[in-house]
Amino acid sequence: MSFLEYAPAPESTAILNLKDSYGLFINGDFVPGHGTPFETISPATEKRIATIANANEKDVDAAVAAARRAYEKTWSKLSGADRGKYLFRIARLVQERARELAVAESLDNGKPIKESRDVDIPLVAAWFFYYAGWADKLDYAGLGAAPRALGVAAQVIPWNFPLLMLAWKIAPALAAGNTVVLKPAETTPLSALLFAEILQQAELPAGVVNIITGAGDTGQALVQHPDVNKVAFTGSTSVGRAIAKSTAGSGKKLTLELGGKAANIVFDDAPIDQAIEGIVNGIFFNQGHVCCAGSRLLVQENIHDEVVDRLKQRLSTLRLGDPLDKNTDIGAINSREQLDRIRELSDIGEAEGAERWTAECAIPENGFWFAPTIFDNVSTSSRIAREEVFGPVLSVLSFRTPAEAIAKANNTPYGLSAGIWSDKGSKILAVADQLKAGVIWANTFNRFDPASPFGGYKESGYGREGGRHGLAAYLKTGIDA
Ligand code: NAD
Repeated sequence: MSFLEYAPAPESTAILNLKDSYGLFINGDFVPGHGTPFETISPATEKRIATIANANEKDVDAAVAAARRAYEKTWSKLSGADRGKYLFRIARLVQERARELAVAESLDNGKPIKESRDVDIPLVAAWFFYYAGWADKLDYAGLGAAPRALGVAAQVIPWNFPLLMLAWKIAPALAAGNTVVLKPAETTPLSALLFAEILQQAELPAGVVNIITGAGDTGQALVQHPDVNKVAFTGSTSVGRAIAKSTAGSGKKLTLELGGKAANIVFDDAPIDQAIEGIVNGIFFNQGHVCCAGSRLLVQENIHDEVVDRLKQRLSTLRLGDPLDKNTDIGAINSREQLDRIRELSDIGEAEGAERWTAECAIPENGFWFAPTIFDNVSTSSRIAREEVFGPVLSVLSFRTPAEAIAKANNTPYGLSAGIWSDKGSKILAVADQLKAGVIWANTFNRFDPASPFGGYKESGYGREGGRHGLAAYLKTGIDA
């Protein structure tokens, strides 16, 4: 098959004004950490980007103390309207510096620039605008009379949407009147540190947001800190489980946003052209590093061959390579560890008897890459049908009746999202009603909006982020007082 060749169209990194090393952002200033610093690299080239401070327990203490002081002395004294003004200011600064943030995100995370530019960063601004609007309307959120802030929120986020996950955490926390200590993932700290510069530019009072960098032990010290009132975590189910255990009985309010293994169900009356695009977007967006990715395709048996053939054709046109190139569809895998995990689970899928197909594409010499891959005839008991691969790997299963589709879709320890493709509205509603998933998309996939709550069932976690529901996680009302 031949198709048009594209000339390289790399986005320039000249817009970035990076420092050689970054400290911890505590009490409004960058300060050195007491742990051993680490380097953040570009997963596309393995080249060093900057040296990053590592927060130990002493630094965690200092960050939590700064957040507590700011809560008591400034933030809790401001009116909702005034808190809202800061959030609006942050949102506008994110928009002003959007190109720079997109380049930093693609450099540090490996995601294609067209995604960081057109999805991540616009959504970051949208999240701050949305919650800015709520800051002076908490009494009208339907959460009970006179809702009050919790105090200091400890927030730990993953590497797949670094700045967007930061926005999902910080925007509702501040709107509700809390102060924050946030820890970004160790492989993607860069955009959070640029965000700290934006907070300085916005003249947010010192200590209201503190950003500390480090690995799992830093995260652990933060969530276990006794002076924290609220813990919000997004990441793996195993770490989420450990956090749930360690915070149990402590009185800390907890929300967990964990993994997923979403079913994307395609009925034979679906608009096939749109469904093919939706399946591709569902699992190959952000290299499949998406907790709500449509990683299990459930396709009605009589259209199975047509759908799989057309998927293969479509995947053969995706361009894998330099994340900063505006033509790139599939960027780099975020880290060597994640690449190893994707390879291991894919090898297991093959050994378990599924048919493996991989798009032909040139793999760059350096960096971490995995070509788009489909496993067909996957059995429900296979590990690639049950475990989160968190990479560009789609498992295909088939079904005959809606009841079988529903049973297979729900046959998972997770319950974060699902997709339904059909021409019939009534069928979509009837099936959606029986799926055990927090978010269900109909004839689309991976759509996010700050007004829409997001969260899971079962091992996908608990609590909701986004919308009015997202505020509830950061407030106490008459009942909780
Ligand atoms: P992880 O859960 O290990 O890390 C997520 C965040 O938690 C990071 O900031 C990390 O430093 C921190 N952390 C690690 N151990 C901690 C602890 N004991 N206490 C407190 N914080 C801790 O996830 P990962 O290593 O980034 O990825 C592993 C797997 O997690 C992936 O393969 C994928 O299956 C899943 N994942 C899910 C999401 C999601 O959005 N649901 C995001 C990233 C990864």
